[in-house]
Amino acid sequence: MNEFDFIRRLREQTRSRKHSSRLVTGIGDDATVISQLAGRAAVVTTDLLAEGIDFYRDATPPRLLGHKALAVSLSDIAAMGARPLWSLVSIGLPDDVWRDTFKDEFFEGYLTLADEYGVTLAGGDVSRTVEQIVIDSILLGEVSSGAAVLRSTAQPGDHIYVTGALGGSAAGLKLIEMGARISRQEAVGRRQENAGRSDEDAIENLLLRHLRPSPRVGWGIVLGEELLASAMIDISDGLSSDIAHLCHESNAGALIQSARIPIDKDVTTLCGRRALDPLALSLHGGEDFELLFTVHPDNVARLPKRVDGAPISCIGEITNEAGVILIAEKNRVWNLEPQGYEHFNRRV
Ligand code: ADP
Ligand code: MG
Repeated sequence: MNEFDFIRRLREQTRSRKHSSRLVTGIGDDATVISQLAGRAAVVTTDLLAEGIDFYRDATPPRLLGHKALAVSLSDIAAMGARPLWSLVSIGLPDDVWRDTFKDEFFEGYLTLADEYGVTLAGGDVSRTVEQIVIDSILLGEVSSGAAVLRSTAQPGDHIYVTGALGGSAAGLKLIEMGARISRQEAVGRRQENAGRSDEDAIENLLLRHLRPSPRVGWGIVLGEELLASAMIDISDGLSSDIAHLCHESNAGALIQSARIPIDKDVTTLCGRRALDPLALSLHGGEDFELLFTVHPDNVARLPKRVDGAPISCIGEITNEAGVILIAEKNRVWNLEPQGYEHFNRRV
């Protein structure tokens, strides 16, 4: 199939979905045209996924890569308190990958997740690379003008919350690096998290936490629309790094209570027994794509308990000591150094 046939088919696939009437022109013209509404601000994000750096081809089924490409951008839009609406995705593929079923499976995973949140694929680009796969995922969302939740607006005394549980994605990546692979059934279809207690179930769950992250789209919309969060960031580099980013931008500090950090239950069962420290994975492991947000004490009572099944945990408080992030464990308090992921400073 040549690229024009491919784009034509993609166009048919997105046409039959028809989520947003405000898409004037999507796939098929030189550029995408979207009608704007008064009183609304556009929120735009892009994420680059480079093979060998952001994912391993042999450990990442194309379907899950399609899911993840959109999921990471959904997480960024959620972290702004915005509602996701339209997306663009550019893919660079080596010749042999173009010829196999990669692109079909990739878009199956991508469009399934897009459908889940009413996102319309509105454009993109296709090119050839020499050796490795490159994906650029662009997502547009909206908020009421002035309602975007920034990193820079946390105040001393605000409570610090995190959605879901932490450490699962980093544990999944460690398992992949140790040679673990997702089962075929996971790669081709969606399966709910396994509630079983065996090691195999725990391994499968952790691989999925890494390969098929669940962006907290619902929480992002609620926190933004209800004006509940005073500041927000998504956890992509790791809690210790992302709380540092938020505090730096807000010119504030934080005191975290170690015992309140929600550690992924599969990390606790599996890693505790394998010389991997569950707390360290939760503090410094990246790519959980949970939301880290702050709430003024007056607004705490208005917080929902769960959104889309995901709970929240209060893990500490914002302080007025700029740049000082402390963590309290039993009767000890120490400085929490940012040790999360950096592209150009990899600890091998
Ligand atoms: P151009 O030469 O103007 O860049 P292309 O042939 O690259 O045009 O793209 C034609 C149309 O197909 C455009 O509307 C573009 O947005 C869409 N398109 C191309 N690649 C993708 C993709 N990977 N995903 C979604 N739409 C795409
Ligand atoms: Mg093009």
